[in-house]
Amino acid sequence: MPNVSMKKITKLLVANRGEIALRVMRSAREMGIQTVAVYSEADRTALHVRFADEAICLGPPPSSESYLRIDKIMDAAKQTGADAIHPGYGFLSENEDFARACEDNDIIFVGPSGDSIELMGSKLGAKAAVAKFGVPLVPGTSEPISSIREAKKIAAEIGYPILIKASAGGGGKGMRMVESEAQFEEQMARAVSEATSAFGDGSVFIEKYVTQPRHIEFQIFGDTHGNVVHLFERECSIQRRHQKVVEEAPSAILTPALRQKMGEAAVNVAKAAKYYNAGTVEFIVDGHLNFYFLEMNTRLQVEHPVTEQITGIDLVQLQLRVAQGEKLPFAQEQLALRGHAIEVRVYAEDPTNNFLPDIGTLQTYKRPQGHGIRVDDGFEQGMTVPFYYDPMIAKMICTAETREQAIEKMIRAIDEYEITGLATTLGFCRFVMTHEAFRSGHFDTKFIEKYFKPESLGGTAPAEEQTLAAALAVYLDDQKKMPAVPVSSQAATQGSPWKTKRLYPA
Ligand code: ADP
Ligand code: ADP
Ligand code: MG
Repeated sequence: MPNVSMKKITKLLVANRGEIALRVMRSAREMGIQTVAVYSEADRTALHVRFADEAICLGPPPSSESYLRIDKIMDAAKQTGADAIHPGYGFLSENEDFARACEDNDIIFVGPSGDSIELMGSKLGAKAAVAKFGVPLVPGTSEPISSIREAKKIAAEIGYPILIKASAGGGGKGMRMVESEAQFEEQMARAVSEATSAFGDGSVFIEKYVTQPRHIEFQIFGDTHGNVVHLFERECSIQRRHQKVVEEAPSAILTPALRQKMGEAAVNVAKAAKYYNAGTVEFIVDGHLNFYFLEMNTRLQVEHPVTEQITGIDLVQLQLRVAQGEKLPFAQEQLALRGHAIEVRVYAEDPTNNFLPDIGTLQTYKRPQGHGIRVDDGFEQGMTVPFYYDPMIAKMICTAETREQAIEKMIRAIDEYEITGLATTLGFCRFVMTHEAFRSGHFDTKFIEKYFKPESLGGTAPAEEQTLAAALAVYLDDQKKMPAVPVSSQAATQGSPWKTKRLYPA
């Protein structure tokens, strides 16, 4: 039952932290909407708390005692007189009880209905609903596995490798690849136990493992008047642990015809869920460009800025307008994409140590600047990345007319970004930007397994640079000159030492 009444939002509580809380508040402020931050004791001095007009402490640092407490957040909204709540991503953003608690308390939930969230929160439920709309699905089981014997039979019919996936899954958790029948039981036990501890629901099902898989998703948007459009695709195939690190729009491989076909399928998925507000329909695309529905994320996505960059649309502002009961201000035919945008996620993780979190203090923190560069972050120099939450420091988005130019801009921006005090994924993202497979567009979700080794960073420079270095050494020797400025450790680990400025004695 969509809320079709028009009701202006005057005060918005943002039930989140970090860069996304700031990003949402910025759009709200531009619209003349007052902002309320909520925070945990670990975030007292966080930027989102300082930015907001009002701030309420929820409780101790663990999210289960703060950012996940529906009761405390509802109290904060009532106490401050907020008439709307934006959930951001992660935390309560895909929790139907939270959306319903807002509905029940006459507070606008900036997102879809509780029913749409519930439907899409179950991967199996979602598949069943969209199948009726003719959306292609990955071959697999449509019910949770109840008998191992039966499941093995089905897996053999589908053909290995297969994936065992948690129906309630998210964030890459509860997913196990099985290469042969011998591994089936062990991997199934792991998936079930991971799903039970992460989601409190151990239901798992089987999907064929799509070969040469590429992750291509469509941004969709609906209003409460029944209109739904898509805002083109994002490609997110560079992943570690089934989670995205580099995203771009448009995809390097979609033709206009395929874009239209997938876009129509995405709109049908939204219609199957009677969807309104922002959502993302994820597809997996195989080596022959066949596409299959994976899941729908019923919220704003981490990587939404690349879509904003190529469409010129502020998606958060649009979310707020639709939540107020406004109609979408455009029809599908009026939307066009322009240029190319790439986002890298700057995580406090060590790429040379299996991308494990490397929490610490940002001893140096200097953002790059210049045309076409956008940095969405929630930190300043001297701040500490708390270990209680997702270790993302920032998202950096580079926009240019072409994909090639966007890649060059990203390399320049990465080299200009200065972060010391903890390991980050910046050096890895630079490796991606300079890698032939990424540059040519011939890559899939196995990029890291195929091409990346810890030695790819820091220590050994790419071949072209080694040649350059050798030539430079010979030249310097000839000239009897020595470089006066040593390469900083920063440049050695995160940028290319041969592209940093050198000074020579006169
Ligand atoms: P996706 O869920 O498709 O990976 P995002 O990358 O936008 O999309 O994820 C948003 C954030 O929410 C990430 O920080 C991710 O780790 C987190 N997240 C999503 N679902 C869950 C979940 N069920 N449990 C824990 N974290 C989750
Ligand atoms: P989550 O809810 O954790 O985001 P998804 O179903 O969206 O789960 O899958 C996450 C990632 O796992 C995908 O982006 C893709 O890299 C990989 N994946 C999922 N399903 C398949 C599949 N059937 N074949 C190959 N890879 C898959
Ligand atoms: Mg997903």
